[in-house]
Amino acid sequence: MYKFFVEDNQIKNNEIEIIGEDVNHILNVLRLNINEEIIICNKNTNKSYITKIINLSKEKIVCNITSENVETTEARVNIDIYQGLPKADKMEQIIQKATEIGIKNIFPVAFERCVVKIDKKAEGKKLERWNKIAEASAKQSKRDFIPKVENIINLENICKSIPKYDIILLAYENEKVNTIKAELQKLQKKDNLNIGIIVGPEGGFSDKEVDSLVLAGAKCVTLGKRILRTETAGLVMLSNIVYEFDL
Ligand code: SAM
Repeated sequence: MYKFFVEDNQIKNNEIEIIGEDVNHILNVLRLNINEEIIICNKNTNKSYITKIINLSKEKIVCNITSENVETTEARVNIDIYQGLPKADKMEQIIQKATEIGIKNIFPVAFERCVVKIDKKAEGKKLERWNKIAEASAKQSKRDFIPKVENIINLENICKSIPKYDIILLAYENEKVNTIKAELQKLQKKDNLNIGIIVGPEGGFSDKEVDSLVLAGAKCVTLGKRILRTETAGLVMLSNIVYEFDL
């Protein structure tokens, strides 16, 4: 069943109106028709509903709620990524894939060795595009939650956020002993664990950055003997965490 996201105000009593770009998608790409079922998720409450299409027009699609969809597709673990800003369109790939695997929030980080510099003027446009990619990927992977791509932050901001996590793992290519597996196995299994992961940009971290993050409570982990590209490292971490706590 296809899935769409709507705002609170598009849900009125037992009916939901779909407007905007999704209308064209439903009419001309998916070619859905009256009486076909779709799942609609409320962006604000993350509740999702099984609905039937009752009216189609170029302006809006109207659906009738048949039942609340109680089976969530969300992972039992909350994972946030702090991703060093990568080159070219790699951030887009990371957002798309991380959303499929189950990320909750995405924080782009300007580390010392980031080649890419995004000024304040360009940041708004980038964030708009990145958040659109997260929404499209959430729709495709049938998530009940659209991960949020937050404003670009710096090292200090990460250090301040560390206490809100049960654990925050720093993928560090120079860590030779402590594995991600060892750190995850130390954690007590419970629902809604909050895990943060930090991934460096193409140039890696400076020693000063690693020292500050460790001092603030991050745990350095190795992801194995091979050096992974920045766009691979976070996805490997995410997959390991989902394997350990959600499968
Ligand atoms: N410039 C670094 C070098 O030449 O050794 C490589 C940086 S790597 C391309 C980008 C980021 O991916 C790293 O900063 C780290 O966060 C993560 N990473 C890559 N391979 C890793 C590994 N084997 N263990 C832990 N983290 C890794």
